[in-house]
Amino acid sequence: MPEKVAVGLFLFLLFMFGACIGSFCNVVAMRVPLKESFTKGRSHCPKCKHDLNALDLIPFFSWIFLRGKCRYCKEKISFRYPFTELVGGLAALFSLWQLGVTVNALVLFYIIMVLVTLSMIDLETMEIPDGFHIAILVAAILSYWFGPTFGIMDPGIVSRVIGFFVVSVPMYILAMLTGGFGGGDIKLMAVAGLLLGWKATLVAFMVGIFAAAFYCIYIVIYAAVAVARKKADSFKDGMHSAMKRQFAFGPYLSVGIVVAYLYSEQLISFYWGMFLK
Ligand SMILES: [Zn+2]
Repeated sequence: MPEKVAVGLFLFLLFMFGACIGSFCNVVAMRVPLKESFTKGRSHCPKCKHDLNALDLIPFFSWIFLRGKCRYCKEKISFRYPFTELVGGLAALFSLWQLGVTVNALVLFYIIMVLVTLSMIDLETMEIPDGFHIAILVAAILSYWFGPTFGIMDPGIVSRVIGFFVVSVPMYILAMLTGGFGGGDIKLMAVAGLLLGWKATLVAFMVGIFAAAFYCIYIVIYAAVAVARKKADSFKDGMHSAMKRQFAFGPYLSVGIVVAYLYSEQLISFYWGMFLK
């Protein structure tokens, strides 16, 4: 019984650790587009500017206890705070579940949180700042350097170098011809190639395309329903109101990178298995 309590406490603390990192990532995602420093300044309510004390700043749980309202002015607190904190906590538990108590799990958690942050910024600004490409590059260098020591996935230097070009170059050519992708997306797939090696980078891109395609299908259905119910004047209006903004590709590529980091081998053998039966 005491063992179960200890495990439960460990998982809870791990969730809280992840939630704290998620909270930090949310601050970064909100301040970077505004070109504000994300290390200086105390936390305060954006509405009434009241400084927040420790009880207001417990990741995820403060929002629940305060029922989503500022303690001082009762202004509603945006859902994105508890949401990113929850994502951070779940990402920490997910990394442990997938890879156990290893350095590898820590690297996975780091990669997920970098991708979550850049996705939030991409959704809002349609851009991925270079700092995030450098953050993924750091993960690539760490996995190359420490991979043999800590058992982190190492596809080998040749595969990594090919990976740098295998998706980014076709994307660059496509962007020149059609303007489909932004520079941030291309750079993301280049550094992801250094992290994953060329095979897994192809998997990441395919999964990203699939994920984006499902989203596009959702938008088309949403627009069709809106037109049928006369809630939108035209199909185009319906699509615009479904998307809110332009289409950001970063979040889908990010999903692809995480899936490929964990399951590229299985997905590749599943794919070939379909043809070789
Ligand atoms: Zn307030």
